[in-house]
Amino acid sequence: MFKKLLLFFLTATILSSCNKREPDYDVAVHNINIVDLKTGKIIPRQSVFINADTIHSIVSTKDLLISLARKSINGTDKYLVPGFWDNHVHFRGGDSLIAENEHLLDLYIANGVTTVRDAGGDLTSSVQQWQKEIASGENVGPTIYTSGPKIDGRRARWPGSLEVFNDKSINKALDSLQALNVDFVKLYDSTISGENYLKTIENAEKRGMITSGHMPSTVTVEETTQAGIDAIEHLYYVLKGCSLEEVEITNAVKDRKLSFWSSLDKVMQTYSDSIAQIEFDRLIAADVYVVPTLYIGHTLSFLDEYDHSYDGYLTNNYIGPGIQKTYDGRIKSALNAKPEFIKMRKKLDSMFIQLTGKLNTAGVGLLAGSDSGAYNSYIYPGFSLHLELKALVDAGLSPLEALRASSQNGARFLKKEIPAIKAGRKADLVIIEGNPLEDIENTQRIYWVFKNGESFSQKSQALLKSN
Ligand SMILES: [Zn+2]
Repeated sequence: MFKKLLLFFLTATILSSCNKREPDYDVAVHNINIVDLKTGKIIPRQSVFINADTIHSIVSTKDLLISLARKSINGTDKYLVPGFWDNHVHFRGGDSLIAENEHLLDLYIANGVTTVRDAGGDLTSSVQQWQKEIASGENVGPTIYTSGPKIDGRRARWPGSLEVFNDKSINKALDSLQALNVDFVKLYDSTISGENYLKTIENAEKRGMITSGHMPSTVTVEETTQAGIDAIEHLYYVLKGCSLEEVEITNAVKDRKLSFWSSLDKVMQTYSDSIAQIEFDRLIAADVYVVPTLYIGHTLSFLDEYDHSYDGYLTNNYIGPGIQKTYDGRIKSALNAKPEFIKMRKKLDSMFIQLTGKLNTAGVGLLAGSDSGAYNSYIYPGFSLHLELKALVDAGLSPLEALRASSQNGARFLKKEIPAIKAGRKADLVIIEGNPLEDIENTQRIYWVFKNGESFSQKSQALLKSN
């Protein structure tokens, strides 16, 4: 386990060199700038004391007389932020990839991602085992919130999905998710009918479950928000809701005159800012989050132009050979795509970037999610969340808004305590080497990561090398 190699203990000479007393704290971080995501302010020159997995106390470093800690870290010119949340990841690929999926847990921690929202897969029992092992300290990894298997229709696209096709099967699927005690329900759109999709959301909401999903092209955003959905993954569907002809396009898909992909040209041509505003107001009124997943959208749209074969995550085998193999499907379809399709995807990519800025300006809640996991080519677990944060800023969010879309909104969506750097709160923390409010790319400059009472130094690359 890499943590054993990496925990490097700085001797606590700063304040306690002549003292034989037992240390009062496990870790002290001195003279650090705390990034307060609630107020958007930097609180300079603080000393933060951590015991086990909890922040014990915080005092101004200049008021400090003496403190004993097993490990003291000099935080001068560095910044302390709540651990990052990646609000859309996957653990999947079948039993033969369980070990490689487990290995991804290290990549999240190495990149300061201390919590992930697993948006469905076929490894639920492994995921639930890791949850237990991580909580008990037997394993290193992020806190995982999971949907368990996805819900879809008959002969669903993803293995392991729960197939719903009538009221009985909807009830059965939701019963089984409740028995698994999942954190939310994830709906997918490969074969589910619009009617069963809406019924599943309504039924899940009645049971008090949190819902998120793709949307079948056969339903409108209005129907979906009315059914009670809590988050919409990706932007295809939200963009369709901005069309002057959303209902006509939806009916054309229902009548099989248009497919999902062929409908998108029409969707783009009929985009209307005034319709968009009505949709944004509807999303805000219904408290629906949107998960733009801009970075993966961009990466997949430009597979024809970029050669990823020298990416360090591949050449250093941070991504195992089995998962690398799952990248082939999307690579092949990109290589075989017709020029018109490639052009359409690139246009869609730029519309998604603009749409994200508009959603944010309107006040729609956004979640930062990478969609990393097997099958999603070149979206590397952990690091891709930082690239999503950058993509969100490039789309018009302030760095503060992007950071909030990670940990703060992630927790709010799942109805968990909002992460904050305060005494008594969980010490899921990351020290970074630059001010993230000035430049979002500073989130990539990881110095220390604190998770479940353990601390990991130093830079993410150093962590990765020993995997
Ligand atoms: Zn996904």
